[in-house]
Amino acid sequence: MSARGGVVEARDLGVLGCHACGLVSRDIGADHSHCPRCRASLHRREPASISRTWALLLAAALLYIPANLLPIMKTATLFDSHADTILSGVVVLWRSGSIDLAIIVFVASIVVPIFKIAVLALLLITAQRGSDWRRPERAKLYRMIEFIGHWSMLDVFVVALLAALVHFQSVARVDAGPGAMAFGAVVVLTMLASLSFDPRLTWDSPKAPRND
Ligand SMILES: [Zn+2]
Repeated sequence: MSARGGVVEARDLGVLGCHACGLVSRDIGADHSHCPRCRASLHRREPASISRTWALLLAAALLYIPANLLPIMKTATLFDSHADTILSGVVVLWRSGSIDLAIIVFVASIVVPIFKIAVLALLLITAQRGSDWRRPERAKLYRMIEFIGHWSMLDVFVVALLAALVHFQSVARVDAGPGAMAFGAVVVLTMLASLSFDPRLTWDSPKAPRND
């Protein structure tokens, strides 16, 4: 048994944990083994976790730009029509006195996605280097973005809520702008990126094989 950097890993003990049902079984050393209880395939580490997570994360970061710059919805009345980006929507809500709603939209649509992207990038860079910098805190950060992930659809809900509000104000037409499409893609991509990151990589040292 050899512990790396004071951390005893499952593979040092010759066991594997099932990601689906949690059963710990003996690592028979085969490339493709299956969980004896639920038949899910077992991996010492998720295959190509780092490169897949990077790809999803970079796509999300790129789409974050049009999601914020392009109009997320277009409203048209008899008298005028205008387009709102997420940020200008927040300003409109704030000025019209819906301060709580403005804060919810700002946090859910602007702060949360950028926080998730930044945290995942940090986890990826440190995992790639096999860094032993603040491992318990990094594990906590991962659990935090996983928890936030459960609320990801809050952003979409907020957009639906906004559309409904505009309807109540007897506006003739509300259409989703191209920014809404980009925004939806950012939500889905960050969700997939946090799913494809293997949190066990946080505990790996540089000498250990990282991607298999
Ligand atoms: Zn299982």
